[in-house]
Amino acid sequence: MSALLWLVLVTASSPPPPQVVLIATPRGETAVPVTTERGTAAVAAPRLGPALGLTLALDGSRVTVGLSGVVFVFQLGAPFVRAGGVVYGLVGEPYLARDTVFLPLNWLADCVPRALGGRYRWEPASGGGVGRLVELPVASAVAAAPPVVPSGPLPPPPSAPGLTPGPAPAPAPPPNPITGLRQRHAVVIDPGHGGADPGNPGRYFPSHLVEKDITLAIGRLLRAELVRRAIAASLTRSTDTLIDLTDRGALCRAACDLFVSIHVNAMPEGRRADQVSGVETYFLSDAKTEDQQRVAQMENEAIRFETGTSSAATGPLGFILRDLQLNEYLRESAQLAQLVQDSAARIHPGGDRGVQQAAFMVLTTARRPAILVETGFATNRTDGAFLASSLGQHKIASAIADGIVAYLLELERKLAIAAPARGR
Ligand SMILES: [Zn+2]
Repeated sequence: MSALLWLVLVTASSPPPPQVVLIATPRGETAVPVTTERGTAAVAAPRLGPALGLTLALDGSRVTVGLSGVVFVFQLGAPFVRAGGVVYGLVGEPYLARDTVFLPLNWLADCVPRALGGRYRWEPASGGGVGRLVELPVASAVAAAPPVVPSGPLPPPPSAPGLTPGPAPAPAPPPNPITGLRQRHAVVIDPGHGGADPGNPGRYFPSHLVEKDITLAIGRLLRAELVRRAIAASLTRSTDTLIDLTDRGALCRAACDLFVSIHVNAMPEGRRADQVSGVETYFLSDAKTEDQQRVAQMENEAIRFETGTSSAATGPLGFILRDLQLNEYLRESAQLAQLVQDSAARIHPGGDRGVQQAAFMVLTTARRPAILVETGFATNRTDGAFLASSLGQHKIASAIADGIVAYLLELERKLAIAAPARGR
């Protein structure tokens, strides 16, 4: 909320962007041109590197920038940046052009001075179209302090926006004794369907149960399992209500690490329908060139599904995947999917159907790694009994939670590696 408020304030009071940024350090001055080719002011990240001692790594859509011992994690196309436990809203979005990463000028002008409290000062352009980022002299207390980023553990989170931090870095938090995680994380859980949308009818569920009941039960248990692991978790719905599909992914925004949608699969009527069983986990691909066509096709399939005439391969899947949002975090989503799938498959009676990639684009509101877990087949006797049982629901929720922890541990490890090893 504070980041958003700050974003609003900055937007309201910003002068016109400078055409050039002068990086002024005790080692000299460097002029870096500002571009507005994408509508908002941005600078080429490599141009900042030598002047600021900034490190840059691009991994899929993730851009990791190290500056004076603080690690900034961007996502291409996303108007925010994460530094430690704090998410800063940005005016503009990082993007890739001509093999070069461009970062919003707003990050340099606003975020850097805040996240690196007292180390840098931003001086807006005054007439000449030149903004200045001034590196301030290092106070003796800071110079004598140990490196901000230890080589092993993660960096301490920078102070919240609006606060002036003290010069001494906080020690890295100890790992959680249950999970080994060092940072706070938050997950949004989406129990599929709800309200007027029952999901699939569940041939092998007890007569009064349908998919929306199972997904809600597993979703609630998953939330409890995550909270037990000291991970914040929220549900897109906690009762039998129908949430607009375009709103579901939007609930996973700034303060959310990942998005998990829970569903139950079903085979269409047929001679062998009841023989298909097992758990599978989906992530989304970005079928860029065919997205419009595919979205249209998917919507049509969903309508056909609702009227009970869908085809086997595309109908139910298309309907389910409307719940998910396109996101730029394919690699992260794929890894999350694999770790959750591995964990769930170990306890599932119906077998391992693996990680699946849906080759079409859906609405673009989630900006985090997002997966959809098909927890089993309601059209299979064993799976149906497993998913309708309290024990089965507990097992699958706990297994998904374990997979999420495995992913978050991996994420923390990568961030620690991406951090500059010694101050700078
Ligand atoms: Zn479903």
